[in-house]
Amino acid sequence: MAEFLDQEIKFLPGVGPKRAELLNKELKIKTFKDLIYYFPYKYIDRTKFYKISEIHSQMPYIQIKGTIRSFETIGEGKKQRLTALFSDETGSIELVWFRAIKWQKEHLKLNKTYTVFGKPSDFGNRINIVHPDMETQEEQQLKPSGLFQGYYVTSEKMKNTYINSKTINKLQLTLANISRGKIAETLPDYLVDRLKLMSLEDSLITIHKPENTRDLKNATFRLKFEELFYIQLKILAVKHHRENKNKGFRFENIGYNFNTFYDKFLPFELTGAQKKVIKEIRRDVNRNIQMNRLLQGDVGSGKTLVALMIMLMAMDNEFQSALMAPTEILAQQHFNSITKMLNGMPVEIALLTGSTKKKDRKVLHEGLQNGTIQILIGTHALIEDVVVFKKLGLVVIDEQHRFGVAQRAKLWQKNDFIPPHVLVMTATPIPRTLAMTVYGDLDVSVIDELPPGRKPIQTMHFYENRRGQLNNFIKQQLERGIQVYIVYPLISESEKMDLKNLEEGYRHITEAFTDIKVSMVHGKMKPNIKENAMQAFKNGETKIMVATTVIEVGVDVPNAAVMVIESAERFGLSQLHQLRGRVGRGAEQSYCILMSSYKISNESKKRLETMVRTNDGFEIAEVDMKLRGPGDIEGTQQSGIGFDLKIANLGKDGEILQLARNVAMEVLEKDPGLQANENKILLRKLILAKQTDFDWSSIS
Ligand code: ADP
Ligand code: MG
Repeated sequence: MAEFLDQEIKFLPGVGPKRAELLNKELKIKTFKDLIYYFPYKYIDRTKFYKISEIHSQMPYIQIKGTIRSFETIGEGKKQRLTALFSDETGSIELVWFRAIKWQKEHLKLNKTYTVFGKPSDFGNRINIVHPDMETQEEQQLKPSGLFQGYYVTSEKMKNTYINSKTINKLQLTLANISRGKIAETLPDYLVDRLKLMSLEDSLITIHKPENTRDLKNATFRLKFEELFYIQLKILAVKHHRENKNKGFRFENIGYNFNTFYDKFLPFELTGAQKKVIKEIRRDVNRNIQMNRLLQGDVGSGKTLVALMIMLMAMDNEFQSALMAPTEILAQQHFNSITKMLNGMPVEIALLTGSTKKKDRKVLHEGLQNGTIQILIGTHALIEDVVVFKKLGLVVIDEQHRFGVAQRAKLWQKNDFIPPHVLVMTATPIPRTLAMTVYGDLDVSVIDELPPGRKPIQTMHFYENRRGQLNNFIKQQLERGIQVYIVYPLISESEKMDLKNLEEGYRHITEAFTDIKVSMVHGKMKPNIKENAMQAFKNGETKIMVATTVIEVGVDVPNAAVMVIESAERFGLSQLHQLRGRVGRGAEQSYCILMSSYKISNESKKRLETMVRTNDGFEIAEVDMKLRGPGDIEGTQQSGIGFDLKIANLGKDGEILQLARNVAMEVLEKDPGLQANENKILLRKLILAKQTDFDWSSIS
């Protein structure tokens, strides 16, 4: 029975080879199954008719009934358009076509009754409908009984060959009619019963021609649940499997290094959140199972310190650790701060980056191999095959979103038999629903508390007219001895222009603050010049740093308490949040000022308002996901999980996702290998899906 939906689309009545090719090329629809899983993006209630006199341009899609009184062709060649005067008993409206004019002229008839469907828009002082759907009485009668008509995305190319949403709709109805009794259930009966799900067949047919809102809701729920359930089942099955197969090192001892550091070297009290997280990790690394944990915590919440303490724990158990950072600057900074914190303790720390000299590398490789180096800090360079450890027990990855799953996997292979524990740290908080999916195979710890004494950063949004005020403010702060960041956007497509903006900004600043020393940093600079400029700012030799987003991850300058972001409307929310995290590190009250032009989109306005309203990274992440959709959130592309969700929406379907995850967990707890008869259906689908390079048949 499964084969029915696997038939090629060209065998569907009404398709044929030409349309098949187009469907295939434009929408990747190759089989019946691809078509039936091509869901409407919206539904229109087609029971309601309006009178022409009621129409205004703010209306969404509307339906009217009447006749065409006259046609007119206006313009020449490409600019040509066809208009028709369309009337009912209450008035007239203009219909307009820019494409397929000849076809319209041949097919549309004067004084025949049509149902016209479309979106009214303003055109000068008139209202018109562009490219309306036109149906004759006869066509209306042939329509499905459903009240809701599904609308489908089609490409420009398809429309040009007269395959529009309506055509797809017709094909769906044809397919639905011949599919009855031929679509096999894909979830075990016990789940369908327990969760009161609509059957797969009913759902797939209903979703294309729902007769009422209740049916539509049930069908949608079933399909969303299934989609999310299989993703969760997949992730959790891998996790189960990994935990069963991969034994982990046991860090049994809390010994000299950990205790000495904690008692004698730690310059402050750990926050409650840091303590809680250290306990969670401690439990993980002491149970013979490889740890895979994500540590989320806002910028400045003290993640590095947590990582360091776990590395000391590894040392107490005779293991080496590696800390991997996404950029050289950041690796260098970690190296410096960790070396400083451990100053006086007998710990051998090394730094390995792309610019480590060849002869230094050789010494380093030796030290890693014979175990004299206990902590290695570096960039991607440390996952290269030539880097061999004596006994690597722990890998810490900072700023997860820049590493993919594949790179993580590579780290596991550093040891022959037992993979090291992996702690992934990210300062980009992501919404819970997304974490369940992107990081679904990881356990999650959260540092939800900042070290004490930090004053919340005050954020303001200024339009261009308050630049004078901004300059006064900067002047005041400089007089108090505070340093200032001024950040310009960098968008790769227009790098030249961005650089020009930056240089102009630099000129303005040096003119406005003649007696103040200013540093400038951007991505196109030579590394050593950039490094010098950063260093000068860090040392306090320069008071203002004019920069592009290269400072986003990196520099830690506690005395810099003012962050000005120019053209803030051009930044994404998570980037704004990251940038703002550069200030608020010292005892002074910190400020973030978002400068923008007057003309900004509603979405930009929302972003800036959110920044002004809250400092909470998780709240910001939620807003970000709502505004952009989950596919664009950092980390998802590299996550290795296809985000081509057909119907579920991670931004909106959090509850269904949670349910799906819980159910998947229950199923796997009872039957980890999915060997029970009733679960065979699940195992088969996982094996068929084959979307990852994981060998599913090895689960059992
Ligand atoms: P993150 O990596 O989470 O952004 P860091 O680990 O760099 O944050 O910590 C930011 C700053 O806060 C560092 O200067 C660090 O020494 C300091 N810090 C960390 N934990 C505490 C604490 N419990 N109390 C006071 N300061 C702390
Ligand atoms: Mg950090």
